[in-house]
Amino acid sequence: MRAIRVERLGPPDVMQLQDTPVPSPAPGEVRVRVEAVGINFADALAVAGEYLTRTRVPYTPGMEFAGIVDALGEGVQGVQVGTRVAALGGSGAMAEYATVPAAGLIPVPQTLSGAQAAAFPVSYFTAYHGLKTLGRGEAGEWVLVQAAAGALGTASIQLAKALGMNVIALASTDEKLEIARTLGADVTILQDDPDRVKKVRDAAGGKGVPLILEVVGGKRFQESLDMAASRGRIIVIGNASREQANLRPVELMKRNLTVTGLWLTSLMSDAPATAEAARALAELVGSGKVIPQVGPTYALDQSVQAFEDLLNRRTTGKVIIEP
Ligand code: NDP
Repeated sequence: MRAIRVERLGPPDVMQLQDTPVPSPAPGEVRVRVEAVGINFADALAVAGEYLTRTRVPYTPGMEFAGIVDALGEGVQGVQVGTRVAALGGSGAMAEYATVPAAGLIPVPQTLSGAQAAAFPVSYFTAYHGLKTLGRGEAGEWVLVQAAAGALGTASIQLAKALGMNVIALASTDEKLEIARTLGADVTILQDDPDRVKKVRDAAGGKGVPLILEVVGGKRFQESLDMAASRGRIIVIGNASREQANLRPVELMKRNLTVTGLWLTSLMSDAPATAEAARALAELVGSGKVIPQVGPTYALDQSVQAFEDLLNRRTTGKVIIEP
């Protein structure tokens, strides 16, 4: 089968298309014929060796995918060959076939296409945990969504609106802000608007924003603190700027701010939190209130281009690779 292999860490062009054996499912695993791979910022960081966990080479990237169950390993029960599933694993999805523990499968409404199903797990679970599990957002509250036209951003806007919240969206271009408005953002502001801090605070009634999903980091992290309301909750989800941020604890103290980190990988082992997110998301996706946003789609041999477009802010929605 064709698969992307990474033998040394670095920029996207270290990825190579190779012929590799079709994997056999180990006991407890299923093999999936991959229809679509969701590409996350984390995949690009992992290939660069800059992710939160150490990347061991050689390996095949791709943590999130959807496809058709093709073979069952010994002992697997309750999974049917021929059904469409989404999966969240550590790596290995940028290939024609991937194996994954049956426990890592995420049931998806069969009404979703392969690309929509692949666009779903990482962004929507992360958005749910940011808005609800950790953010404790309530209907009627304002939330600030950064990188609003990206995969996580579009998921966050849709979910926040479905949960009855008011959304302020930040993004780098007018085209991206238009996408945010289409998804229901109430207020949209250019990320580089010189008056952005005041505009954001004013939009949320002049007192600042009670809940912020922070994904840019670096000097923008300080701005998030400035945009927050007294007692605001800032959920740190990403560091797309790849810059260091300064945090002065006294500032948190003075304004009773809360800064909370969110990493989906570690939250997935919290069974009750995962079950609650899965229940809420299944209801919202099943009823059509939330529609996973598929972005640009690439073939496997265009993987380098896909990663470069994502890193260089040229994409909106979830970047998809179809093997
Ligand atoms: P996106 O589709 O959102 O793409 C990244 C976006 O980040 C860009 O489009 C860009 O939007 C914005 N951005 C801001 N500053 C920069 C910069 N200096 N360089 C590049 N991009 C920048 O990607 P994802 O949805 O995959 O991820 C969004 C963020 O959320 C990432 O930081 C990612 O690591 C994080 N994340 C974290 C998770 C967790 O478990 N903690 C899970 C999922 C995502 P614009 O042009 O509008 O500024």
